[in-house]
Amino acid sequence: MHVSGHKLHAALVDPSGNVLERFEGKIAPENLVEEAAAVVKKLAVGGGNIAALGFAIPGLVNRQTDVVMISPDVPSPIREGLHKQLSKATGLRVEIENDANAAAYGEFKVGAGRGSRDIFYMMIGNGIGGAIILDGKLWTGSSGFAGEVGHITIDTEGIECVCGNTGCLETVASAPSIVRRARERLHRDSTSSLSRLGLNKDFTADDVAHEANEGDDFALMMIERTGKYIGTGVASVINLLNIEKIILGGGVMDAGQAILNPIIQEAKRRAFQPCFEATEIVAGKLGKDAITIGAATLAQDAAIT
Ligand SMILES: [Zn+2]
Repeated sequence: MHVSGHKLHAALVDPSGNVLERFEGKIAPENLVEEAAAVVKKLAVGGGNIAALGFAIPGLVNRQTDVVMISPDVPSPIREGLHKQLSKATGLRVEIENDANAAAYGEFKVGAGRGSRDIFYMMIGNGIGGAIILDGKLWTGSSGFAGEVGHITIDTEGIECVCGNTGCLETVASAPSIVRRARERLHRDSTSSLSRLGLNKDFTADDVAHEANEGDDFALMMIERTGKYIGTGVASVINLLNIEKIILGGGVMDAGQAILNPIIQEAKRRAFQPCFEATEIVAGKLGKDAITIGAATLAQDAAIT
């Protein structure tokens, strides 16, 4: 199960990672626990026994204490007691995890990371998250927040980020940043007025990706440039970890090869060559289900051990 904005996504997942039932709906964040428990009940009707509940959220979760430290989508009065309340309301063993960590685990167990031992996962959507799996286990750092690749500095002269730093990867390559950069460019540059994006005032990052794949030069340039920014971040990860595989997921990766190719090219250009050659850079396989499947497999595995 995962919460994002005012939406709850849930799935009943078997031990092999297959989705048996699905739920997606709006929720009132202040009633998060009650509504999540109601969804669990609904999903349980068709699927028999539920072993555990994996609950993924955007934000920082301390896995040692199960306390949600920071999350834009979980109201502050229920953050601290969320784990306890969810267990009580559902009667299940509950694992709360950061959404990127959950998605990483899903890809690792049943997606693009299957068969690997060490992976780095990057989730590029409304924000940019990351997660590290070493020796088959999520490595979450000394207090649970490892892998925040979205907040490494890409542009020292860049704009302010939500984290307080300036020029983070997230400020140039997340979905809202792509839209912002495209808008700025459409206003400034006379050649960009030929882009069809200019006709649609409320375009999204998905529209930019769609136009790029339709051959629109301007949209293609925006996606390529985004790929270069991400590739710059990927090069740092490669140099730092000398990791076997880097898996890229999240909505921005829906642009497909148009974004994957420049990411790989830029990473190749910037990373230390022997490290780059040892790393495989691939797109995730689980798509939009990565977080829910990951949260579920994480909770299943925690319940076994
Ligand atoms: Zn930041």
